[in-house]
Amino acid sequence: MKLPAIVVDDIDTEAGRAAGAIELRLALLTDGVAGIAFRCPCGCGSEGYLPIQLNGMDRRGPEWEWDGNPETPTLSPSVFNTGMPCKWHGWLLAGEWVSA
Ligand SMILES: [Zn+2]
Repeated sequence: MKLPAIVVDDIDTEAGRAAGAIELRLALLTDGVAGIAFRCPCGCGSEGYLPIQLNGMDRRGPEWEWDGNPETPTLSPSVFNTGMPCKWHGWLLAGEWVSA
């Protein structure tokens, strides 16, 4: 399965309720992207958050590497929604969710 990751301003809006919608969240201090909030690509409606690796910060949790592209982002490693009932697993590759 492939699903476009539609970039929205706010995941909690009508547009943000679409499966696979993503919102880039900014870090207040650095003015950079701190993480990516997303609506589960499987369509279950669950919301998740993926912290982005920031240089020099130890956040003591899982973090993802972002390629810096705000329109068609790629993250690594894969996204595994272990905290959601659906347990969706896959990748965000060049602005597309790809199921494992
Ligand atoms: Zn799901």
